[in-house]
Amino acid sequence: MAEIAIKGVAKQFGDFTALHSVDLTIADQEFMVLLGASGCGKTTLLRIIAGLETPSQGEVWIGDRRVDHLPPRERGIAMVFQNYAVFPHLTVFENIAFGLRMAKLPQAEVTRRVTRTAELMHIEQLLKRYSGELSGGQRQRVAVARALAMEPDVILMDEPLSNLDALLRLEMRAELKGVLAESKTTTIYVTHDQVEAMSLADRISVMNGGYIVQADRPTQVYRNPAARFVGSFIGNPPMNFLPAKGAGDGRWHVAGQVFDGPKVAAAEFAIRPEDLHPSEHGLDAEVRVVEPLGPHTLVTAEVAGQPFRAVLESDRAISPGDVIPLAPIPDRIRWFDPDTHKAIQ
Ligand code: ATP
Repeated sequence: MAEIAIKGVAKQFGDFTALHSVDLTIADQEFMVLLGASGCGKTTLLRIIAGLETPSQGEVWIGDRRVDHLPPRERGIAMVFQNYAVFPHLTVFENIAFGLRMAKLPQAEVTRRVTRTAELMHIEQLLKRYSGELSGGQRQRVAVARALAMEPDVILMDEPLSNLDALLRLEMRAELKGVLAESKTTTIYVTHDQVEAMSLADRISVMNGGYIVQADRPTQVYRNPAARFVGSFIGNPPMNFLPAKGAGDGRWHVAGQVFDGPKVAAAEFAIRPEDLHPSEHGLDAEVRVVEPLGPHTLVTAEVAGQPFRAVLESDRAISPGDVIPLAPIPDRIRWFDPDTHKAIQ
């Protein structure tokens, strides 16, 4: 059982707070992605779980053991990093066997585990090669095989695909997902790539400025952002936001249109670019740029002087300078508190 519980974990570097009292529970065998922009604290949190960094405050639990005072090797964790530290002067076999030899496992067990994980990662034909001769993608597979060979309860990965080219990334992404599901480990995976996060995660923890803003399933994070930041960070292009005026009766005036919304004093209107369609009545969008993307067309416009984007079916002729009414799909409209920036349910 490798449930991970992070309880009130904070980290200060001098005067700078990299993490503010983070609470997060990751279920046994769950694939959790930490997602956020550069500097939001993802790596710091991962390094605290790994034992490479001590928290200024709080506790880390793996299963029923409190581990934040234990050295990394006693935590039952394996790690795969961006620069994957594969030793070029060792064969692939010895690279994968490295941790097993350190743990003084018998030779037969070393061979069994190296062979099994090499097969899993489709590198069994490379076992005798020196790692210095391998391509980036092959080396990445060796790094993952080495982590899996430890049969850890927990695997931590920090941007493991970021050194690969786009095509290889896509291929490795699908492969990792399959392999990690099969290996039944609990995985924490750090990335700033939202597509990678959406495609891999059971749950995504969206981080901003040392806080976890939302931890939820990818569809929830996408459809029901808990905060304005999540809507503006996830989605390409991100959510559109418009000011709204209401009298507290649940009727909201947004760019000359009226919508039903929450019965509160102040709210901001939000809609995803793909949740709009051209209609007789809608938000008047003054088109600035039209980008055909194949199946869809990305329209960059202004609504009531605010930047606004729509992803529309590509069969419509739209040109810069056109004013097109865009109707939001009613049940896709979201509302945020203009002061706290939290979603209004
Ligand atoms: P990236 O995607 O760029 O790796 P990240 O979200 O992983 O970013 P962290 O590496 O966790 O971010 O860093 C969080 C903040 O803490 C950053 O502002 C960083 O400059 C700061 N920080 C990290 N390590 C140290 C350190 N050893 N000393 C001082 N500040 C640090």
